[in-house]
Amino acid sequence: MSRTLDHLLDRNVAWADAKTRHDPEFFRRMEAQQTPHYLWIGCSDSRVTANDVLGLDPGEVFVHRNIANIVHTSDLNILSVLAFAVEHLRVQHVIVCGHYNCGGIVRALSDERGAMLDHWLQPVTVLYRKHRAVFDAMAPHVRLDRLCELNIEMQVRRLAATPIIENAWARGQELHLHGWIYAIGDGLIRDLGPHLSSISERDNLRALDECVLAPSTPVIRAHRPAASCCGGQCGGGHDAG
Ligand SMILES: [Zn+2]
Repeated sequence: MSRTLDHLLDRNVAWADAKTRHDPEFFRRMEAQQTPHYLWIGCSDSRVTANDVLGLDPGEVFVHRNIANIVHTSDLNILSVLAFAVEHLRVQHVIVCGHYNCGGIVRALSDERGAMLDHWLQPVTVLYRKHRAVFDAMAPHVRLDRLCELNIEMQVRRLAATPIIENAWARGQELHLHGWIYAIGDGLIRDLGPHLSSISERDNLRALDECVLAPSTPVIRAHRPAASCCGGQCGGGHDAG
């Protein structure tokens, strides 16, 4: 096994060459400033990289990733990223994008406990345990899909409750929160909702427990990608156009 990573450094040189071949000023522009319009909060999974799945260049999306895209309000990392994105970069959209077959959600659905990861996943585990009868009545693949989706809905709600987002809305800053889910199997993103743009929209949002209890089919089994939803009120359970 090689001790060095020359093959990766070689790929970096090739990538930089390709970038400047068609756009000689590309990196000089990057160096001058970054003005992304989007903050992406996604999973650390190596298959779900924001720039790639959105088809965006460097400089176009500010990114925070952790296992299962969880918004812990005691996590200095995510709070720092969020504050910088909202208050300094003044992004207009914050996207929580999880994915189907998320290993973190698989873990939360299992009865294995004791790893550091289980502390991290606690909000998901608590949601599952609270509604275990509902989830356990589902076929295993449906259960996993639904919990992947509901985790995203939960994290959007937690995001909307942070003082950083509340303050931005209170001072009239244009800021939209989105809940998306990516399917590794087809490379496509589905828009789950909720879409939140104000404190009143957040406060009128259906409680997560109601979403869990509402009869629903995972979006990947019911909708075309990016099907429009009913303003985030549905929990992904109805037919949309
Ligand atoms: Zn994941």
